[in-house]
Amino acid sequence: MRTLDSLGDIEGKRVFVRVDFNVPVHEGKVRDDARMRRALPTLEELRDRGAKLLLVSHFGRPKDREPEFSLAPVAERTSKLLHTDVELVDDLDNIPDGDVVMLENIRYEPGETKNDSELAERLAGLADYYVNDAFGTSHRAHASTEGVVEFVEHSAAGLLFQSEVDTIRLIMNAPKRPFLAIMGGAKVTDKIGVIETFLGIADKILIGGAMTTPFLRALGHSIGDSLCEDDGVEPARKALEMDDYPNGKLILPEDLVIADRLGDDAEVQMLNGVDVPDGWMQLDIGSRARTRYVAEIRESQTIFWNGPIGAYEYKSFAAGSLAIAQAMAAHQGTTVVGGGDSGAAMREFGLSHSITHLSTGGGASLKLIEGSPLPGLDALTDH
Ligand code: ADP
Ligand code: MG
Repeated sequence: MRTLDSLGDIEGKRVFVRVDFNVPVHEGKVRDDARMRRALPTLEELRDRGAKLLLVSHFGRPKDREPEFSLAPVAERTSKLLHTDVELVDDLDNIPDGDVVMLENIRYEPGETKNDSELAERLAGLADYYVNDAFGTSHRAHASTEGVVEFVEHSAAGLLFQSEVDTIRLIMNAPKRPFLAIMGGAKVTDKIGVIETFLGIADKILIGGAMTTPFLRALGHSIGDSLCEDDGVEPARKALEMDDYPNGKLILPEDLVIADRLGDDAEVQMLNGVDVPDGWMQLDIGSRARTRYVAEIRESQTIFWNGPIGAYEYKSFAAGSLAIAQAMAAHQGTTVVGGGDSGAAMREFGLSHSITHLSTGGGASLKLIEGSPLPGLDALTDH
């Protein structure tokens, strides 16, 4: 992976910086700029070296040029973060000469998601150098993340991108052991491949969240009305078999928090066991599982967590995720959190600064763990 140092002298040059500023916006204001702040070291370094920046990001999934997908609120916040004017430009053919210029939502260009080579070449023509700091978008081969690299003379990964890749590679290739993986959340079919990878390299794997349900079903337990991806049951069964469960690495909760519906007004019960009655759904791990999971974290040296361990958005179902988050925050070893919602949980609990690494790219980090190609990363790597 080419680094910022490899760019050499960039004084007075224009650098195209692909950032991932796809942040939550509410009523025309950026609601959470955590992801933007993570790109600041790269932007500051480039500016310190005398470069002019052309910032490029996607924002949402526009079909046309709908104004609600404008980067205007993001440009405004970027101005504040960089303490300088950031001009937002809509026209690829007229890039002003300012120190920091931001291009309108790159997905306004129909060629972006198609990785159109004509667009890629036009983008390459807008600057002298290309830097990608959008790790969270690196699993997609788009014109501004992959196609463009072929047409530029100098390209490199930004500091955030580099730290994301280095952290994941370190825990995958040379983890201090015991190495514990914690997998939760809702997108079971998306994540089952990663569980298989962890069966190979982790020492233990804790399962939580809606991820638990297909495993319970595969083991013949009743799941009541719990959220369950049908397509997840067969892969869960396969993982249990590969692992020789319960004699292997997989650990499932031994008790659950169940409720009659998802919401703060739900009727809640502690279930001593894992057979969920009809009319009820499992929404968090129980207290014995919580104690067990925390103990596993304390006994490990490297911990990777992806996916909330319950429906943490609601107070009644947040205890499992909170316990995991606190145990990781208190841990002295290597603690890595990947995943949009698990990251959001960490931040909501106010603990994101107490862990080793909080990934800005849930999907991309899982792909990297799985060994699937990351087109944005491959483009920045000399083979
Ligand atoms: P991440 O973004 O960290 O990868 P996911 O997107 O896979 O995580 O899953 C996050 C969602 O999973 C959250 O909205 C959370 O409420 C939900 N969730 C977690 N546990 C359960 C559960 N037991 N039942 C239903 N939903 C759950
Ligand atoms: Mg999510």
